[in-house]
Amino acid sequence: MIESKQIQRHKLVLVVDDHEINRDALGIILEDEYEVIYAENGAQALEQIRTNADRLSIVLLDLMMPVMDGFEVLRRVTADERLRHIPVIVLTAEKNAELRALQLGASDFITKPFDVPEIIIARVARIIELSEGRQLISAAEHDPLTLLYSRNFFFEYANRLFRYSPELRMDAVVLNIEKFHAINAVNGREFGDEVLRVIGDEIHAFLAETQGIASRTEADRFDIYCQQPQDYHAVMNRFQAKVNGISSNVSIHLRMGVKPWQQGVEPVLQFDGARAACNMARGDYQNPVMIYDEDMRRRELLNQRLLNDLRSAVTQKQLAVFYQPKYDIRSDPPRLSSAEALIRWRHPELGMIAPGEFVPLFEGNGHISIVDAFVWHEAARQVALWKARFGVTLPVSVNLSRADVFDPTLVSRLDRLIRDNGLEFKDLKLEVTESAYTEKASDLLEVVRQLRRLGFEIEMDDFGSGYSSLNMLSDMPIDVLKMDMKFVRNIESSETDFRLVKLILDIAKYLRLRVVAEGVETEGQLNLLKDAGCDLVQGYYFSRPLPPEEFEKLLERELTIGGGLAK
Ligand code: C2E
Ligand code: MG
Ligand code: MG
Repeated sequence: MIESKQIQRHKLVLVVDDHEINRDALGIILEDEYEVIYAENGAQALEQIRTNADRLSIVLLDLMMPVMDGFEVLRRVTADERLRHIPVIVLTAEKNAELRALQLGASDFITKPFDVPEIIIARVARIIELSEGRQLISAAEHDPLTLLYSRNFFFEYANRLFRYSPELRMDAVVLNIEKFHAINAVNGREFGDEVLRVIGDEIHAFLAETQGIASRTEADRFDIYCQQPQDYHAVMNRFQAKVNGISSNVSIHLRMGVKPWQQGVEPVLQFDGARAACNMARGDYQNPVMIYDEDMRRRELLNQRLLNDLRSAVTQKQLAVFYQPKYDIRSDPPRLSSAEALIRWRHPELGMIAPGEFVPLFEGNGHISIVDAFVWHEAARQVALWKARFGVTLPVSVNLSRADVFDPTLVSRLDRLIRDNGLEFKDLKLEVTESAYTEKASDLLEVVRQLRRLGFEIEMDDFGSGYSSLNMLSDMPIDVLKMDMKFVRNIESSETDFRLVKLILDIAKYLRLRVVAEGVETEGQLNLLKDAGCDLVQGYYFSRPLPPEEFEKLLERELTIGGGLAK
C-alpha cells in the first residue's frame, strides 16, 4: 500500500487556473497523492506542458482565463503529436462548456464549485489509469479512417455526458448505409472506404455546428450523440446529398434511426432504440428516417414478451391450429378440396394473437421452427383423425419457413411424420413462400426437389409478392401457385389488375400448374376468377380460418349436402 503511494507521488499533475483560491483548493486535495505544479493562464500552462511532456500524468485545466483560455490550450495540445497523449480534465462552472471541451479532446470534467475531495481524487486517478492504458492502445481511441471515436471511447464519453450533464438532453442517432456489403463487393474496398470517409467528414462538419460526439461503431454504422432538437430529415438530406456526390454511377442510400432524449435512459440503451429505429427504416428509400416513438417502444416490449413466452405457449397448449378451406371452383357448385393450417396463439393475457404479430418475429431468430413443427404435427394428426371419422381424406397444407428448409433433418422429419400418422405424402401439402425461392435459391430448390420426389405436393405461397418473374417458374419444382391476395383485391374495379390475373393464369396453365387465388372475399371476385380459368379459391367468401371443431362441421356439411369433396 505504502509502496504504491510512493510511486503515485512521483506522478506529476498540472493545475491551471487564474484564481489562486482554486489552485490552492485543488493543491490541498491532490498534494497528498501527487506532485503538483501550477500555471495561472493558458500561455504558462502550455509552457509547463511542453517542458514536462514526458512526465506529466494529467492536466486540470480551467477554461475561462486571461491571456490564453483553456479552449485554446486544449486545441493546441490535441494538435501536437508530442502532447496529445496527456489527458486533460476541464474545470468548469459553465455546463455547456463541458461538451465543447470533450469535443476538443478533453477526457473529463470537474464542475465548479468543486465537488467533495474524494470525488476529485477518484476522477483524477481514474483518468490517469485510463490514459496509461490508452497509450498502449492509443490507436483505438479514434477510427483511423474517419477520425471519429471508436466504439468504447465513444460510449465512455457519452456515459460521462449523460451522468454529469443530464441537462444537455442528447439524442441518439444511428446512421447506416443500405447494402454496404454489396457496395464494397461491387465497387471495391477502396470505394467503400471513400464512402465512409465522406460520411465521417460530414459528421465532423455537422458536429462543428451542433454540440455532440460521434463514432463509427461498426463497419457502416455511425453513432451520433448530439444535442436536441434537430430536424433529422434535414440532417439526413445533407448526408445523403454528400453521398450522392461521390459517384454518378453508384447509387448509395443512407438510413437513419433516432431515439430522442428521455429522462434517465442511458446512452447504451438509447442507442439500442436508435438502432432498432434504423433497422425499421431498412430498405425504405422513401422514408429513410425513423424516429423511435411510443409505438416502437410498445412493439419492442411486445416482441420481448412474445419471445419470452413462446416456450410456455407450447407447454401450456396456448398454440392452436385453425383451418381455412380451399374450394375447387371448376365444378358447379364449388367443392371443398383441401384446407390450409394456420397458427393461432391464445395468449392468457394478450388474447388471441394473429400470426402476423409473431411469425416474422420468430422467423428472424429461427424460433419459427418450433411453431412450424407444432403445426405440422397437429395438422397430420387432424388429417388422420378426420380420415378415421369420415372415411375420406381431406389434404391439409402447412406453411414452411426459410429456417425449416435449411434444416438438414427436414426431409427425414416430414417423412416420419407421414408414416407415424398412417398418411400418404399427398395428404400433407407444403407451402413455401415465394420470397424463400429468391434467396439462396439453389440450396432451397434441392431440398424442395427431394420433398417432391418423396411425393409431397409443393405450393408456392404469396406468388407475386416477391421478385420472382413468371419465366422463372418454368424450372421451379412446384405443383401449385398461390396467387397473392393483392392481385385479387381490385379485379372487380381495375381492368389492369384483372388482365394481370388472367396473364398469370394463362402462364400457369401453360406450365401445367394449378392456381389458388388467395383472399377471395366477394361473389364478384369469385365469378371473374372462375371465368378466367382459376382452379382453386381460398378466402373469406367461403370461410374464415376456423378452429378444428367448427371446421369439422363444415366438412360434415360438405360431405352430406355439398356432394362430397373435389376430385
Ligand atoms: P398465408 O400463408 O398466405 O395465409 C393466408 C392468410 O390470408 C391467412 O392469414 C388468412 O387468414 C388470410 N386470409 C385468407 N382469406 C382471406 C381473405 O379473404 N381476406 C383477407 N384479408 N385475408 C384472408 P393469417 O392466418 O393471419 O396468416 C398470415 C400469415 O402468417 C400466413 O400467410 C403465413 O405466411 C403465416 N403463417 C400462418 N401460420 C403459419 C405457420 O404455421 N407457420 C408459418 N411459418 N407461417 C404461418
Ligand atoms: Mg400459406
Ligand atoms: Mg399465402
